[in-house]
Amino acid sequence: MEIRTLGNTGLRVSRLGFGAAPLGNEYGGMDDAEAQRAVDLAIDSGINFFDVAPYYGRTLAETRLGAMLKGRRQEVVLATKCARYDVAGFDFSAKRVTRSIDESLQRLQTDYLDIFHIHDVEFGDKRQIVDEAMPAMRRIQASGKARFIGITGLSLRMLREVSAEAPVDCMLSYCRYNLLNTDAAALDPGGLINASPLHMGLLTVAGPPAWHPATPLIRDTARRIVDYCQGRGVSVTDIALQFALANPAIASTFAGISTTDEVRQNLRAAGSAPDSEILKEVELLAQPARGHIWRAGRPENYDPNMEYECQNLIRLLPMN
Ligand code: NAD
Repeated sequence: MEIRTLGNTGLRVSRLGFGAAPLGNEYGGMDDAEAQRAVDLAIDSGINFFDVAPYYGRTLAETRLGAMLKGRRQEVVLATKCARYDVAGFDFSAKRVTRSIDESLQRLQTDYLDIFHIHDVEFGDKRQIVDEAMPAMRRIQASGKARFIGITGLSLRMLREVSAEAPVDCMLSYCRYNLLNTDAAALDPGGLINASPLHMGLLTVAGPPAWHPATPLIRDTARRIVDYCQGRGVSVTDIALQFALANPAIASTFAGISTTDEVRQNLRAAGSAPDSEILKEVELLAQPARGHIWRAGRPENYDPNMEYECQNLIRLLPMN
């Protein structure tokens, strides 16, 4: 597994990371013993970057991951988040952020984090995040409880604007660099982490979970890609991962994983190149969704390009 340096942090992270949202049952039930084997196999195979959050399974994923990393904490680069605790449960106050790290450290059975992120900044008030949450994050870093701090979110505009006013060590964007959406390529590289290379399950044969927020245009485009790959006898998850992992500006990509099969298959995909003809066809099929994403968070934090659906629909119309 290729190891890359994450921005200016000096952290050495695997190109493919282990996303632990599935450990919070976010993608349906999972088997504890099998997930433990998946975590061990991932580490034994060179995947050293783990991402979790109190939000995933409302603390369940952190608790499970903490138990599963017992005895192996020093072998991994561990990232978790604060400020999001439920679907609509956010608190970006300094007080909550400061309490959050102690809660996470306890659940993760460790006395430090490698990275502490503010979760989904588009749901917050920008002034509160910049003036209150970020200074609290820097105090946490100074205390030694977190080595580096960052922000995560869907809105590239918020990732850009918050980090311009309150510099971060790294940032994570999700569903913005994969076959269906490549907008994050426009972010300044350096410390960029990409999450959800399978567009949170849309680019799988099993399909997305019921909570998936994608618009019909994105869903239909994903379905056409999945059907095409099935028709050609190739794995859609392989192609999707290979596409996401090929961008050298992205330090690491987190795929949601909870089984040894997923670890094995994703490692195999990461270690091989896609069929160029099939990738070309898949990229053509993806065009209608490119540049389009659903709206999340506060309206004032939306990306301007969250209005792209109309343009894409126009692009889909026959030329004459
Ligand atoms: P993903 O795109 O990685 O898709 C996950 C789904 O794909 C799960 O159902 C998983 O079981 C399935 N899958 C994985 N490998 C597979 C394979 N080889 N074959 C078939 N199915 C496979 O989406 P994700 O899990 O949401 O994103 C990855 C990680 O990124 C998360 O676990 C989380 O750690 C992080 N993340 C962070 C944010 C944020 O900070 N706001 C948002 C999204 C994701």
